[in-house]
Amino acid sequence: MSTIFSKIIAREIPARIVYEDDLCLAFHDVNPQAPVHILIIPKKEIPRVAESTSADELLLGHLLYTAQSVAKQEGLHETGFRLVINNGPDGGETVPHLHVHLLGGRPLGWPPG
Ligand code: AMP
Repeated sequence: MSTIFSKIIAREIPARIVYEDDLCLAFHDVNPQAPVHILIIPKKEIPRVAESTSADELLLGHLLYTAQSVAKQEGLHETGFRLVINNGPDGGETVPHLHVHLLGGRPLGWPPG
């Protein structure tokens, strides 16, 4: 299923892109929940992490590695940050294209709502 994120990958709609490679793209969330709120997405159309397969294992690792790399790029390495993946209705997923939220720039509460 093609989503708005596929359109961002294809440059059909604009986004504030901060990182790109062959496998993934990172861009600012349009509705930020923290001073830094960036989404890291695979270029492959995987709807959600629960629908990944064993063939996606390296890609999933690459998303996490990229997320920490972008966190450093954004100056969050010392203060800390949070990575979130929402999955399905109870998880709060609204866009069915796998994405890792990178949140930082303020203390984040726990547990989440
Ligand atoms: P989730 O609720 O985990 O599925 O997260 C989807 C995220 O995508 C939300 O935080 C939205 O604010 C964000 N979002 C939706 N459309 C866009 C867009 N066009 N550009 C950037 N972020 C978006």
